[in-house]
Amino acid sequence: MNTPFEALRSPSYAIAPALVVTPQGPVRDCVVVVASGKIASVETMQSFRERQPDEPVLELRHTAMMPGMVDAHTHAGQTFGKAHICGEPTQIWRRIWVPLEDALDERRAYLSAKLMFLEALRGGFTTLVNFNRNSPENNEAVHRAAVDSGIRLVSGVAASTDSPSAAHVIRTAQDHVSACRAHPRVHPSLCFGFYGESLAGLELAALSEIGKFCVEDKLLFQMHSNEHFPDVHDCIVRFGKRPIELWNELGILHRLTLLHHATLVSANEVALLEDTGAGVSYNPVASQWKGNAVAPALEYARRGIAMGLGTDATRMDGFRNMDAAESCQRIAHGMPVLDFSCGAGWTWVEAATRGGARASGLGSITGAIEPGLAADYLLLDTRMPELLPSCDFEWELVRFYQRDQIRAVVVGGNLVMVNGRPVGWDMDAFMEETGVAAQEMLEEARITRVHAVSSTLRPGK
Ligand SMILES: [Zn+2]
Repeated sequence: MNTPFEALRSPSYAIAPALVVTPQGPVRDCVVVVASGKIASVETMQSFRERQPDEPVLELRHTAMMPGMVDAHTHAGQTFGKAHICGEPTQIWRRIWVPLEDALDERRAYLSAKLMFLEALRGGFTTLVNFNRNSPENNEAVHRAAVDSGIRLVSGVAASTDSPSAAHVIRTAQDHVSACRAHPRVHPSLCFGFYGESLAGLELAALSEIGKFCVEDKLLFQMHSNEHFPDVHDCIVRFGKRPIELWNELGILHRLTLLHHATLVSANEVALLEDTGAGVSYNPVASQWKGNAVAPALEYARRGIAMGLGTDATRMDGFRNMDAAESCQRIAHGMPVLDFSCGAGWTWVEAATRGGARASGLGSITGAIEPGLAADYLLLDTRMPELLPSCDFEWELVRFYQRDQIRAVVVGGNLVMVNGRPVGWDMDAFMEETGVAAQEMLEEARITRVHAVSSTLRPGK
């Protein structure tokens, strides 16, 4: 490989992009030093030269550096189903996702996850928060896919109201934590499926015990919540409370709780999130494609609730996800009250990076170009016709950028992608193998689509 980014393969280096997106906003005239996989310093060229007069600096004109984005909610076992959900009505998990995940074996789990990780890295995500129903064997395959692709992964172990006991869930979670320790960029979590109609396996009170274990062992607790009309309605009918009110009563809302979607929320539920420090993933494309509502993300941001942006296994372009985040807020919450700013651009950059890291318990590890954090970053080409002239970089990130402007992706100091192609492995051979495996799995899984393919729905067909 012979690119201007060859120097990024060294264990330590200093780079001077034209612009760096810091937690305070975009800054120019900046030198970033990377050493041993972490950001060692961020300072002006003048102060760097005073300290290191002879140190070589890789100057990257027409290049912006931003933190790698965090996909705060996805399902790496559902990658092969993405083209089958277009136009499908809500609650597709019953007809498409569950049959598909039931057809996973170790090889398919590896290929499905690696395809998602490849797409994610191409789309600017350096961290993925995975929600799954995997066996430990399939999870190990997912971990291998993360290691082979170079992405940072929050890996989930499955538990649900079908689990036999709290003790069983806790033992499984402890084994999962040990399995994740083998890989430095794989972080453990517990994925809990709450099925109100099947409480036979687990007493409701057992959830409190599981929540307490997660707090004590500092383990991220992930759960879908308040996503669709039936979930909220059933919870109210069965328990006399809305979901987030029920979680609060059970004591499972805390700083390491990550609720996915949280779209259909009452004012009281928003206040409970704020009071307990629980985080949310805002999944705008999931709302566009199959949702009943758009999360009140501006309200979450205003209250300082930890909020990341998720794809929910829709499409893996972090820039289009930020665009959707802003657009959905503008249409659902901004338009009715004449709010044209809707987060002023930076809110979505923050949610896509630092917010996602914070909501998924990785705020001290990734999410910003800041000394001490992992060197998880993107280098973007700013010299493109679509990006000229430039006057407000964070708004431009939200509205004009997309994956084609990503020149390099670095995770934990490792250069993992250059110009959309992975470093060190053959993307074309991988796609060849995965295309065949995906087709076989889809045929075997017997998913049920409501609609035929688009062209058959044209008039006269
Ligand atoms: Zn989901």
